[in-house]
Amino acid sequence: MSCHSVKAAALVENRHTEMIDVESIRRDFPILGREVYGKPLVYLDNAATTQKPQCVIDCISDAYRNVNANVHRGIHFLSQEATDMMESARENVRRFIGAGSTEEIIFTRGTTESINLLASSFAQAFLKEGDEVLISGMEHHSNIVPWQIQAQRYGFKIKVIPVTDLGELDTDVFRTLFTSRTKLVSITHVSNVLGTVNPVSGIINEAHSHGVPVAIDGAQSVPHIRVNVQELGADFYAFSGHKIYGPTGIGVLYGRKALLEKMPPYQGGGEMIKRVTFDKTTYNELPYKFEAGTPDYIGSIALATALDYVNGIGMERIAEYESELCSYAIDRLSEIPDMRIIGTAPHRSAVVSFLVGGIHPSDMGTLLDRLGIAVRTGHHCAEPLMDRYGIPGTVRASFSLYNTKAEVDSLVAGIERVRKMF
Ligand code: PLP
Repeated sequence: MSCHSVKAAALVENRHTEMIDVESIRRDFPILGREVYGKPLVYLDNAATTQKPQCVIDCISDAYRNVNANVHRGIHFLSQEATDMMESARENVRRFIGAGSTEEIIFTRGTTESINLLASSFAQAFLKEGDEVLISGMEHHSNIVPWQIQAQRYGFKIKVIPVTDLGELDTDVFRTLFTSRTKLVSITHVSNVLGTVNPVSGIINEAHSHGVPVAIDGAQSVPHIRVNVQELGADFYAFSGHKIYGPTGIGVLYGRKALLEKMPPYQGGGEMIKRVTFDKTTYNELPYKFEAGTPDYIGSIALATALDYVNGIGMERIAEYESELCSYAIDRLSEIPDMRIIGTAPHRSAVVSFLVGGIHPSDMGTLLDRLGIAVRTGHHCAEPLMDRYGIPGTVRASFSLYNTKAEVDSLVAGIERVRKMF
């Protein structure tokens, strides 16, 4: 894919503050040239989904044009080629998150499906009445509801790690929550509302000292910070392709082989079996045991292209660039009278949630939209967190490697304009 060489040229190594040549990167994303209501698009809804570079768009259309055939089932040329490409995408994902084996990389539809798979299969294998699962007060609904569904089925309890006023996990309380019935900790790496980067390494060490495995929701971390599941010691790790410049409908569940082997399949159907008779069915080996039916092989291939794109730029550079942009945004937003930033943890990622005076978030979002500025408003699928802060919702600006300080300035000017209208 030509994106790689483009990226190499896009790096401006000798400038400390802006190591990424953002204008060159923006040209990789055709949608960024769009206008909305006659205004240039300022896309600040990256935590919901990222835009796609041309190489990912091309990859999807090339794959359908040239190599489309159902995978794993055919002896014919195209089927084998598509299978090879999907399996090489799996290897690519393995490398990207530092997993030990491709057997531990399960393709899913996204973080939500990854956590539903985990909750369903883990609960069936390991959880019974009276057991306890720890989650946190800053989880996305997709790391709450799947556990509630299984808790109803198996009778285990869900205990919640509280969130401090700053928007950090209360790790002192966390340590007190362990009992002999604690069977799993499932928490987010980065909050999609507060931007807080949780100290997952310390959390994993603490949980492991009690013999408890840890699942991490990586939906908001994998696109922004280098993740190595083995260095972290994570037992499970979930993320979505569409939040890291890949297509929708594809995601990943990493799971430690020793645990995955003990867990039953999530869904039944083709591909996940070794042998089927009406009396007894035996299951396929990992990871196929968890991939029933025709997988989104084109999605896997396009996800791998997106990861190559990120690697071509360098995750460290992306993290540094976004961190500087986010600090700039916080400084500029803080100049606005009546600005209340929700989530002020020092260790944070590229998300800023805020409220301005008594202006309802959806009014703010609607008026900013008219100025071409796309932000997200509402509870961000984290209603318990909204309850924690006693607010109905927030306005959320979330940044990506293609956003600029000029766009932050447009956001600030837009908010000022809306403020004056109220
Ligand atoms: N977890 C977090 C922290 C998220 O931010 C999101 C989506 O915004 C999800 C899970 C769910 O991701 P998806 O909708 O791609 O499955």
